[in-house]
Amino acid sequence: MTIDFPNKHFLINGEWVCSDVELDLINPSTGDIIGQVSAAGNDHINDAVRVARDTLENTWNNITARERSSILTKLGRLIEENIDLLARLEATDVGKPLKQARADVKALARYMEFYAGAADKLHGDTIPYLQDYTVYTLREPHGVCAHIIPWNYPMQIIGRSVGAALATGNTCILKPAEEACLTALAFGALTREAGLPDGVLNIVTGSGDTGAHLSQHSGIDHISFTGSVSTGIKIQQSAAQNVVPVTLELGGKSPQIVFNDADLDAALPFLVNAGIQNAGQTCSASSRILVQRGNYAKVVSMMTAKYKMLLVGSAMDDLDIGPLISKKQHEIVSDYIRQGTDLELAAKGKFNADINNDGFYCLPHLFVDVPPDHSLAQNEIFGPVQIIIPFEDEDHAIEIANGTGFGLVASVWTQDGSRQMRMAQRLRSGQVFINNYGAGGGVELPFGGRGLSGHGREKGFEAMFGFTTLKTVAHYHG
Ligand code: ADP
Repeated sequence: MTIDFPNKHFLINGEWVCSDVELDLINPSTGDIIGQVSAAGNDHINDAVRVARDTLENTWNNITARERSSILTKLGRLIEENIDLLARLEATDVGKPLKQARADVKALARYMEFYAGAADKLHGDTIPYLQDYTVYTLREPHGVCAHIIPWNYPMQIIGRSVGAALATGNTCILKPAEEACLTALAFGALTREAGLPDGVLNIVTGSGDTGAHLSQHSGIDHISFTGSVSTGIKIQQSAAQNVVPVTLELGGKSPQIVFNDADLDAALPFLVNAGIQNAGQTCSASSRILVQRGNYAKVVSMMTAKYKMLLVGSAMDDLDIGPLISKKQHEIVSDYIRQGTDLELAAKGKFNADINNDGFYCLPHLFVDVPPDHSLAQNEIFGPVQIIIPFEDEDHAIEIANGTGFGLVASVWTQDGSRQMRMAQRLRSGQVFINNYGAGGGVELPFGGRGLSGHGREKGFEAMFGFTTLKTVAHYHG
């Protein structure tokens, strides 16, 4: 099986285009340059927006929801058929262990399946009104949508964002991150094989400048962005200039809260995995573990034992943790670890024996007894660093859990049903999990944040509302 997409090109109107500005692609496991990518400039962005508009008005608007559904179904199948190739591409480009890359491919295929199934099930309402009126609502696509995505989960984020936008009849311009764009380009090639008309999905590669041109363009009708808070703020400012809606998913400092009556054996794998998955470079990573005093020593000792066994190695070695994405990210995470020198370090993981010293590897670190206002307890680190904080009672747990600027995900471990309900209500967070964390990814489950974690909801049916605008039609027939 192969997926054909030419080196150093991006996709506009079904054609592979290049520019004379090239950026190196680096394998995080080895530090080697594995290729280059072309950076789309202003003219390319203008072309992409014009093509997306023309295609919307002349082609895509005339295609029924059922036809969109069958294209997405075919695309999902093609993704599954190419799982090995896509997973290896992602593992090489992002540095994530192969089994995690495979899980991402499956999630991308599942998003296509979900949104294929949902495409012809979105509808408006009829509204009882005055005598001789019939009033109804229509859910219409925004038009041309920009999707600016990060490097940590390219395939999953393409799935949830582009999948929902296509299903609802938008045309798209996808801007993958400069650090990891190979699976986005492969996805572009597969959309053509699946019969998506040229110009419905355009892909522009490049650095933040390309993203800035795209988000500032007056021809864009909606922007969805996943990435850092600082870039999210700029994108919201660009959206404000053109008065267009924007969905922002900006990460978090998500807590897991362990009460004295928690089932610790059930909790332990979630407590650790949710922090170290993808080397902690996950928006919904659980970087804070809050433990009630009665269980504190036990949880510290259980997590410490697990941390000591964690192995760090290359993506292809497929161990617990791969490298960080880049040298820059390695420096950021190392700086946070240095800020923890005043804290008690309970455990670190281990490097695999034959680790390549030119890769961007970072040992997982577990800090304990961390004051809730410490920089490691307040900032998103985006690396394999977890902290444990003790708490006394429910009120105290809520005060700490809600005590950062973020509010993406939280989980509560307790057997007490009333407490489960109270905590779910009181946590300031876009998702709350009871006695689990992440619910296995949950393509169907609305996802998004509060505060610095952003706004708008992706995933599930809710995303379809986000990618449509509501029109009310009042028909007088008196
Ligand atoms: P990080 O700092 O972790 O790389 P960013 O939030 O800067 O994360 O990047 C996420 C995505 O946003 C990438 O595709 C990147 O190229 C893009 N980007 C970076 N800066 C800007 C900007 N000023 N405007 C629009 N997109 C940007």
